[in-house]
Amino acid sequence: MSIPLDPDLRRALANRVRYFNELGIYDFYRREATGPSRAAAIDQDETIQSEPREEMPARKIAPPAKEFNIFDAPKPEQMASDPVAALQLIREDLGDCTRCKLHKQGRKQIVFGVGNPNAELMFVGEGPGADEDAQGEPFVGRAGQLLNNMIKAMGLRREDVYIANVVKCRPPGNRTPERDECDTCSPFLMRQIGVIKPRVVVALGAVAAKNLLAINAPMAELRGRFYDFTPAGIRISDPNWQGAKLAVTYHPAFLLRDPRQKGEAWKDLQMVMRYLGLKPSKKEE
Ligand code: SF4
Repeated sequence: MSIPLDPDLRRALANRVRYFNELGIYDFYRREATGPSRAAAIDQDETIQSEPREEMPARKIAPPAKEFNIFDAPKPEQMASDPVAALQLIREDLGDCTRCKLHKQGRKQIVFGVGNPNAELMFVGEGPGADEDAQGEPFVGRAGQLLNNMIKAMGLRREDVYIANVVKCRPPGNRTPERDECDTCSPFLMRQIGVIKPRVVVALGAVAAKNLLAINAPMAELRGRFYDFTPAGIRISDPNWQGAKLAVTYHPAFLLRDPRQKGEAWKDLQMVMRYLGLKPSKKEE
């Protein structure tokens, strides 16, 4: 049974939900109470002080209250008619983002993501570098050139896939994005994945893998298998898409530093190709 809310409390909750929405947070969950409420505790204390100790009858536990609709704010992109419009709404929601400290550490622009809004295959890296920051597009430098070659070897073109990063602003000196930066920015990536609905997401490098999968393990353990992946915080309403397969491979920047690992990366991509039914480009056959 729903509980009527005091109008002042309702207004305060609406303001708080709006505040979180502006931060890009749309899903809210009730935490189940694990012990007696404060009122119940006080009630029990008073009983103990005023009466001799005796066995208390078991308290009746009320069933958990249903979530109030006020917490069920839809994301803007859920109103969009197609993925292009939906991605545009996410971009507008991001705005001239100042949600994490990367906005004031020398970024030239936000690097949102690029590619086919209906892509079956999506690549996710960790964050923009200097070239990406200058051009506003992910993976356009030397690592981007190598990623293009990897995509081509899979029998695809860059414009067939969608490419994005965990954080959308360049970390200074190309440092690894910090936990709070990833946590603040990644909900937008999750929303992008929720709109694109790829069949496979390839995490490029350990930072992307750990953020997408929320597990902490070395690359050697992360690679070589598929994970069932649903973007965190996204309510899936499409009966034709219940999530993607996720594979982990080396970041192209790492492969530039250690080309001996290219063979291993190719094995990861071949696993993805088998799943998607892709044939390698002529050069790789
Ligand atoms: S990295 Fe993401 S959350 Fe941080 S300022 Fe840039 S767009 Fe906003």
